[in-house]
Amino acid sequence: MQIADKCVVAIDYTLTDDDNNQLDSSAGREPLHYLHGAKNIIPGLEAALTGKSVGDELRVDLEPEQAYGPVDPELIQSAPHSAFDDMSQVKPGVQFQAQGPDGQVRIVTVKEVRDNDVVIDANHPLAGKALHFDVTVKEIREATQQELDHGHVHGPGGVHE
Ligand SMILES: [Zn+2]
Repeated sequence: MQIADKCVVAIDYTLTDDDNNQLDSSAGREPLHYLHGAKNIIPGLEAALTGKSVGDELRVDLEPEQAYGPVDPELIQSAPHSAFDDMSQVKPGVQFQAQGPDGQVRIVTVKEVRDNDVVIDANHPLAGKALHFDVTVKEIREATQQELDHGHVHGPGGVHE
């Protein structure tokens, strides 16, 4: 069986950046299960997996545009201290959830704490980074109709029923 749309795929992966820092890995955990063709994973990785079989190992090198996109300068903004419940928790590198103008919850990273305001960055933490995945395909199966309806995987390695 080869990976195609409407397959549930399990992969082991290690994600590194250009400096060979490990950013994420499934080592020691369940493999990542995802629904192929449903945008569960980033587009460049999904495209590279199409047509692969169980046991295949691949190295996928992605430019930022194929991963989490370039850094958008408009998403780097300043907020007054009064926007934060507890300023003692606000330090560079701290991440918190905020609701954007579109109502979507996004992760915001504190860039700098200044006397009068705080510089916050609502770009994805991996925006602007080239990413390198080492992937092993562990399992491929057909998705159930319910999984296709929901657009995600159920059962082991997946989400709720
Ligand atoms: Zn569901």
